[in-house]
Amino acid sequence: MTAGVTTALVFGITGQDGSYLAEQLLEKGYEVHGAVRRLSVPNLSNIRRILPHITLHDCDLTDQTSIDQAVKESEPDEVYNLAAQSFVGVSFTQPAHTAEVTGLGALRVLEAVRRFAEDARVYQASSSEMFGSAPAPQHESTAFHPRSPYGAAKVFAHHSAVLYREAYGMFVSCGILFNHESPRRGEEFVTRKISKWAASLMVGRPYVLELGDTGSRRDWGFAPDYTDLAWRIMQHDRGDDFVGATGVQHSVEDFLVEALRVAGTNPVSVQEWVRTRVGTNMRPADVTDLRGDAMKAKLVLGWEPRTSFPDLVRVMVHSDLAAIGGVASALSDGRPIFGAAVVSGTKG
Ligand code: NAP
Repeated sequence: MTAGVTTALVFGITGQDGSYLAEQLLEKGYEVHGAVRRLSVPNLSNIRRILPHITLHDCDLTDQTSIDQAVKESEPDEVYNLAAQSFVGVSFTQPAHTAEVTGLGALRVLEAVRRFAEDARVYQASSSEMFGSAPAPQHESTAFHPRSPYGAAKVFAHHSAVLYREAYGMFVSCGILFNHESPRRGEEFVTRKISKWAASLMVGRPYVLELGDTGSRRDWGFAPDYTDLAWRIMQHDRGDDFVGATGVQHSVEDFLVEALRVAGTNPVSVQEWVRTRVGTNMRPADVTDLRGDAMKAKLVLGWEPRTSFPDLVRVMVHSDLAAIGGVASALSDGRPIFGAAVVSGTKG
């Protein structure tokens, strides 16, 4: 902790949101600490650029001692809990682990702050998945009806956050954020699967893309817009809950078509490279109609998502193209790219 400088501790700093948030905080002049769990192969790619400017603490959300230690060592003014087992699909195969990390982990962070940094502000990354099957548009007062172990764990974490605000008078806020994507989105997420695939098409290396229900609709935004909202939520004069969303739904098919437009290819010819498997390997339950109402964030915090859906898709495809050595501008001219019959499966 440096005198006169605001200190932030970010749990989940290696993830999509944590890494963008850390960059934004550094730009604002914060001293940034990150909590990182031990992995046999370190996963620091998202924060490699900023590593010289941040302080990392060994910490696992399943371990109270390490969380306590991270809080004590960093002496934070602001604590952002973005750490989670964040993939809904995996929460069905690892429900107890998801509850342990995503649910109980949040409680452990709250408890550590209460005991060792009681004046620090806390941000909890709540999720639209908590709304589950509640009718759209969902807002801060919409009743939760989760449809996955992930959603249920997030509801527990959310209620714990509200409890600590009310019971202990702590500054605890929740951002109930709808889906937000970026080039740093995990590769198991459908948006990233599509952007990687579209980039492969652009360099003449097509493979069969396997998708679930392409009619599935989500309210998709751009991650850095949402981490900006998280910061704004923490600058409010009191702890509170805010929905972050675009208010617009797009289907997986919309994402696919937009990605193909970026790739400069014809959606008709592409059908041979896309395989849908509706009805097989489906989740035991799923959300059907998530669309957020972020009017409160707009009115109270002056926040609105700045990035359009086409721009989101373009940024993701171009980033994946760059990662495989392609050049975006030269390949967006609509010329056919299906010459090479290189076929490989993708993770379902
Ligand atoms: P993400 O990319 O999956 O990042 C999750 C982070 O949690 C990673 O840094 C991961 O570390 C860390 N983590 C996982 N298990 C941990 C453990 N046991 N101990 C310590 N750290 C652990 O997720 P994201 O997209 O950035 O999302 C950030 C937060 O917002 C998450 O809580 C997510 O559930 C929530 N959220 C996300 C969205 C969205 O659309 N992205 C929407 C609503 C809410 P490793 O790098 O070591 O795996």
